[in-house]
Formats: sequence, structure tokens, C-alpha cells
Amino acid sequence: MSVYLDNASTTKPCPESVSAVVEALTENFGNPSSLHRIGLNAQLVVDKARKIIAGSIGADIKEIYFTSGATESNNLALRGVMGAYGKRRNKIIISAVEHASVEETVTALENQGFEAVRISPRSDGNFYIEDFVNACDDKTCIISIMLVNNETGHILPVADIFKAVKKRYPEIITHCDCVQAYMKIPVNVKKLSADMISLSGHKIHAVKGIGALYIKKGIRIIPVVTGGNQEKGIRSGTESVPLISAYGTAVEKYSPTINQRYEKVTGLKKYLLEKLSEIDGISINSPENASPYVVNISAGKRSEIMLHFMEQKDIYISSGSACSKGQQSGVLQQFGITGKSADSALRISMTADTTTEELDLFVEILREGIEKIRG
Ligand code: PMP
Repeated sequence: MSVYLDNASTTKPCPESVSAVVEALTENFGNPSSLHRIGLNAQLVVDKARKIIAGSIGADIKEIYFTSGATESNNLALRGVMGAYGKRRNKIIISAVEHASVEETVTALENQGFEAVRISPRSDGNFYIEDFVNACDDKTCIISIMLVNNETGHILPVADIFKAVKKRYPEIITHCDCVQAYMKIPVNVKKLSADMISLSGHKIHAVKGIGALYIKKGIRIIPVVTGGNQEKGIRSGTESVPLISAYGTAVEKYSPTINQRYEKVTGLKKYLLEKLSEIDGISINSPENASPYVVNISAGKRSEIMLHFMEQKDIYISSGSACSKGQQSGVLQQFGITGKSADSALRISMTADTTTEELDLFVEILREGIEKIRG
């Protein structure tokens, strides 16, 4: 039995998404910008997906912009806003545990002369609203905080932070990377007080190479990719109709079951933690109130070695963040997970389709790995 527990890296596309890709490739191959009927049909496919995605986050259709994924969405949000407003307000606030697509973009913006402040969790592992508010001032342009951390599942108090920031500095633009939250916990732009949010298709059983950026009406953005004026000039380039269609299809499928699936995965996490508690020397790095979809543990053996041991047995997990190709991203250290615990960290990320049999097998092989791997 093959056991895939690396769903925070990517998910298997659902059959409906795959069919949507094939249908768009075979029947709706037109360019949405073409003025004839074949083009119009492609445009209708794009419009339908846009409506579904807008509805799923409480946004207007005109506020959704398709991108190639959340990396691009995060780049567009940060670079675009600094390009539009940065002359007057040059400061960026982020959390110190953001995904590389935010962290590295902010570093690039610092190299261009903008100022950035990174807020760390306190020693209890929690983020405090006042730490963010106190970092803001009249020069602050944008605050960007992720909703669910991809390495540990930590849920950050984004809505509370954004509300407090907006109350004191209504001009500051709020951006949230919702990649690991979307379709797993409810995401609503108004409840979050978010002016922009980034989303990715391949984390929700759609396909790779598609994502979206929500931009609240009235927020100005300088495009990163210029050209034929698609996506109202915010993101030029012929729309990928097949990928967009798959994305809308997956959102339509998974939107109605967010709470049911959350409960199911909460049960799976509980089951997994009980099983793990029977093994000596395992520590759990994810807090109790984390997203149940991501469980970060330390098993005392070097992550890469354990990963390959598991792979030989057809079990697929991740060490920390898959995006950093095994390189430590510093996020675990931010949460107080250092030294051997960080070196031996493993990330198990589930879906509602994960079974207890799969978890049993994972735990069995983990136990075997701990016994067999030396050092
Ligand atoms: N943000 C977070 C929190 C992520 O987990 C990821 C994917 N690992 C991204 C952004 C980047 O998404 P994409 O792969 O769509 O570029």
C-alpha cells in the first residue's frame, strides 16, 4: 500500500478537476480574448470559475485575478502594492514565519530600498496582536501575514491583527497568504479584514500552475507582468482556461464540506497522536489548536534519512517545508524548535481521504525507522 501524507506540498487532483482540464483542452480551446464564438465560450469557462472562487471567499467577481499560483500571487501583492504606494509609505510588516514566496520577495524589496519588519512569535510560540500593531506607523504601507503555517499548521490570529491594525491605521493595506487555510477552514475576506489574499490551486485537489489573488476594490496595484491587458491589466498573459476551469471545479466540489472535512481530519489527527504517544522519544511540534491538516513531529533521527527510509516502504512525508528542498527555512526555529528537534522534524499532512489504516502503516514504519536508523 502506498501512503501519501504530503498534502501540504501538493494534493492529488480530484477526478472532476482532471475532467475539467480535458474538457477545456478538447472543447474549449479558444482564447478568451478572441471576439468570435470559440473565444467567447472560453471566456464563459473563465467567468464561471471566477464566480465560484469569488463566492467561496465572500468577494465580488471583479476582485479575483488569476495567477500561476500563490508564489506569483504573493509577489504581485507585495511588489504591486509597494510599486503603487511605496514612494510615500515605504515600510512592510510580515510575520517571521512566512512562506519563502513572501519572505524572499520582501528581502528583494528591502534590496530595492524598502524597509521591512519581521514579527516573531513570543517564547510561548504565540503571536501577539500588539506586537504587530506596535510595529506599524504612518510610514507602513502593507502588512502581510499567513493564516495557516505550512510547516507546523499554526493558525495565526490574522483577523484580530488586521482589525486592530486597521482601527489605528486605516490606510495600511492588509494581505493574507491563505494557501494552507483555503478549503480547510472558512476563509472570508471581510471576516479577515483582508484587502488582498493569495490562493493556490494545487493544494486543494485542483492542478499545479494556477492560483488567484483577491484584490479589494479600490486598492491600487502596479502589475508585475505587463502585456495584453488580460485580468484588467493586473496580470497580462492569455488565461490558462484548462487550469482555471479545474480550479473552479475543485472549489465548487470542496466548498460545501469544509466543516465536515475539518472534523474528519481532527479525528484523524487525534488518532495519529494517540498512536505516536506509544512510541518513545517522539515530540509533537504542532500546537494542539493548529490546523489538523498539518502535524509536525520530531522523531530523533535526521529528517532526510527517515524520509528516504519511509520512501523505500512506499510512504511519503516531508521534512519541514517541501518548498525549501530539505533546507531548513528557519520557521521551526521561530517556533522554538531547534537543534536535534529541528534536524529530525517530519511533516505529516493529511486530507479528509486519509484513512486510519494509512496512519497505522505510517506509525509502524516510523517505529521501524527509529529502531533501524543509527545515530
Ligand atoms: N504559501 C504557502 C503557505 C504555501 O504552502 C505555498 C506552497 N508550498 C505557497 C505559498 C506557494 O504556492 P504555489 O506552489 O502555488 O506557488
